[in-house]
Amino acid sequence: MRATGGELGWLTWPLDQGEKPGWEVTQRTLNGSQFYTYSVCNVGEREQDNWLRTTFIQRRPAASRVFVELQFIVRDCNSFDATSLTCKETFNLFTSESDADVGTTFRKGQFKKVATIAPDEITSKNELRINTETRVVENLSRKGFYLAFQDIGACVALLSTRVYYKTCPATVKSLASFPETVAGGENQALREVSGVCVDNAVSEKLPRIYCTVDGEWVVPVGQCQCKPGYEEVKDACQECQPGFFKAVASGDKCELCPANTQRLSSGVLFCPCMDGFYRAPTDPSTGPCSGLPSAPRDLVATTTQLSAGKLLLTWSPPEDTGGRIDITYSIECQRCEGIVCQPCGEKIRYEPASTGLTDTKVSVSELDAHLNYTFIVEAHSGVSLFASQATPQAYRPPSTSALTTSLHYTDKCQFVHGKWDIHLQMDFIFSFRKRNSNSRQGPEDTYFSSSEQLKPLKTYVDPHTYEDPNVAVLKFATEIHPSHITKQKVIGAGEFGEVYRGILKVPARKEVAVAIKTLKPGYTEKQRQDFLSEASIMGQFSHQNIIRLEGVVTKFKHAMIVTEYMENGALDRYLKDHDGEFPSFQLVGMLRGIAAGMKYLSDMSYVHRDLAARNILVNNTLECKVSDFGLSRVLEDNPEGTYTTSGGKIPIRWTAPEAIAYRKFTSASDVWSFGIVMWEVMAFGERPYWDMSNHEVMKAINEAFRLPAPMDCPSTVYQLMLQCWLQDRSKRPRFGDIVNLLDKLLRSPDSLKTIADFDPRISIRLPSTSGSDGSPFRSVSEWLESIKMSQYSENFTCAGVVTMDHVLQMKNEDIKNIGVRLPGHLKRIAYSILGLKDQTSTLSVFAV
Ligand code: AMP
Repeated sequence: MRATGGELGWLTWPLDQGEKPGWEVTQRTLNGSQFYTYSVCNVGEREQDNWLRTTFIQRRPAASRVFVELQFIVRDCNSFDATSLTCKETFNLFTSESDADVGTTFRKGQFKKVATIAPDEITSKNELRINTETRVVENLSRKGFYLAFQDIGACVALLSTRVYYKTCPATVKSLASFPETVAGGENQALREVSGVCVDNAVSEKLPRIYCTVDGEWVVPVGQCQCKPGYEEVKDACQECQPGFFKAVASGDKCELCPANTQRLSSGVLFCPCMDGFYRAPTDPSTGPCSGLPSAPRDLVATTTQLSAGKLLLTWSPPEDTGGRIDITYSIECQRCEGIVCQPCGEKIRYEPASTGLTDTKVSVSELDAHLNYTFIVEAHSGVSLFASQATPQAYRPPSTSALTTSLHYTDKCQFVHGKWDIHLQMDFIFSFRKRNSNSRQGPEDTYFSSSEQLKPLKTYVDPHTYEDPNVAVLKFATEIHPSHITKQKVIGAGEFGEVYRGILKVPARKEVAVAIKTLKPGYTEKQRQDFLSEASIMGQFSHQNIIRLEGVVTKFKHAMIVTEYMENGALDRYLKDHDGEFPSFQLVGMLRGIAAGMKYLSDMSYVHRDLAARNILVNNTLECKVSDFGLSRVLEDNPEGTYTTSGGKIPIRWTAPEAIAYRKFTSASDVWSFGIVMWEVMAFGERPYWDMSNHEVMKAINEAFRLPAPMDCPSTVYQLMLQCWLQDRSKRPRFGDIVNLLDKLLRSPDSLKTIADFDPRISIRLPSTSGSDGSPFRSVSEWLESIKMSQYSENFTCAGVVTMDHVLQMKNEDIKNIGVRLPGHLKRIAYSILGLKDQTSTLSVFAV
């Protein structure tokens, strides 16, 4: 108003103001400075109805909710003489929406009341009091609107009117940029906004964030990650410096190039090998490169049984193995007459073999007397073949000192010398034989060739497809005579009756330890058929990692199912009982077995539906086998089963979302369950999602949260779990991929060294992270009590850990050092600390 000299073009009504005008522009002086107001003060008059209308206010389409902030003064009615009967101390705010500026047309009836505006502080004769009030106008939908102020007989001066809406400012979070977003209104309190990954960052699912009505960003979900060759630097992705690499899109920093690699370029996905160094096809591209091994040394031949034409060749490993442990040897024999040599032919026998030797000796037999033999011992390593293939022309084997002695062996001299007369040569370390390129397989090839070409022709047959289930049992299972079975001891309770350990002794066969499942008396025919259906299914499988069916008893009163005996029982129980006792390597080995069993089942098109650690059995060599194939088990008698709305029963925390939502059970949903089994195994039998309810689990999963990495879990293993838990089932790995990856990890145990971090952005909140009312813990003892670990109070105090701040600084090592030794306790305390940290970081996210 100051700028326009008081002329805003606002409309006053009634147009004919008569003697007592309504709202009018008034100039005032306040604290020495001049300013304008719209005022009205007809306190002595009856029936006042004075309107002041703003000009047309255009609305930004998304702003459905605007704020109106008014500054005004209202005079105290008591400060006027004899006017108090009609004098008012309030005025009204109205609004009217319109798609166009209607100019000076004014119809009261089109205005809706927003609020009655009353002053907090009233102005007396002597003292001026300015009030500020803000009102919200909700649910605006047309192109613009007017505001109007109705006076009904007060003495008011309007100093300023500010109309605004709120936005969440443009921002970059989790490497995604989010645009400026108009805050929602009553009908949409949280506006969900998708981000776009910043340059050189990628993500499977676009990150999302919510804009609150107050214009604040909250609850970011998802994360972009710098693509291979890039790392995060201050909300952006920068190329890896020369000498560093990053192989996959991840939140990790670029890593230092490993040994024997080139360090010239920036932004690399892996560091190429230096000249003369190689990686085998199975070596990770992120690992070091190795040189070729030097020649075997000290090759010696000794005779053992001369008359049998036999000798023993021994040698020492190469001095330089090229940094590898996968050294093997091969032997080649040549018969030389003069300078002409030719292969010895097939007659010669090698024990144990002529190639792939891991020991530094071989015995050679069927040699003829009077002949010269040349034996060539070659050392190979994982990179040998690759090196010769990579550079077939340029490659020359490192030369070694060749030992060339030539003596003659005759019947006569055999006793005299006690040694074979031999032409020995130590040379040539690598095989040059050009292999058929088809024979080389990368890990992916292995998967495709084995699943596409070598896929077992056998497909699982659902016993229900047989009209008479008894026929199915006899087709797939061997009938055993009960007299060949001895029950020894009850070892478990099955769905249909007791499970026993016992002995199976079939005539003319070795006796074997077995598990015997029985059917309790009083069963119905339907129960008998359901019971035996497990045998009909199991009998179709034959794999190292699937529980083997020995046979069934169906022709006698007491039906039984006899399987191989698994000494260590169910996997979840077994791991709980041996918490913390196995290194990751061994746990991954167990998972490899389970994955191999599942690959077999999926190749046979069998979908398990109830893969969980409780359904894996463990034998005395810690081999894991998939079990539990009953047809009814998933639907009817599963202790974990929860009824769904469609009436089925589903073990929620092991089951993929699409299987819960619309019963889409596939091998891909089995892969999800396998991910949960991985978590159970790496967490030594911990219950997935702890004590969260099934409902909480489903909600968290739908909101893209996942189980956090178990304590001490290798990062590579956790990454695989996360892959198994991808929402889009077509993106999950297949069991063949999983077996290959686990094999790879087992071959290079270094890949298990990096421990997975706890990532609060994707992780479900850990248990016991705050007091019961959600407030932070006030003392260490209150916290310990909440996680039922009070017995360690003194340990914490003695170690000087006396505030929650100290607690937050603790590492797993520190917890051990203050005297917490039991793995279960260690884990509970460590998890709780992780959860506390998670909370602090979540709070800071909200605080941004
Ligand atoms: P199931 O009805 O298959 O779930 O078996 C019930 C329980 O019996 C399992 O949890 C195991 O503890 C035990 N059990 C079943 N089969 C075997 C087996 N082949 N070897 C050892 N224990 C078994």
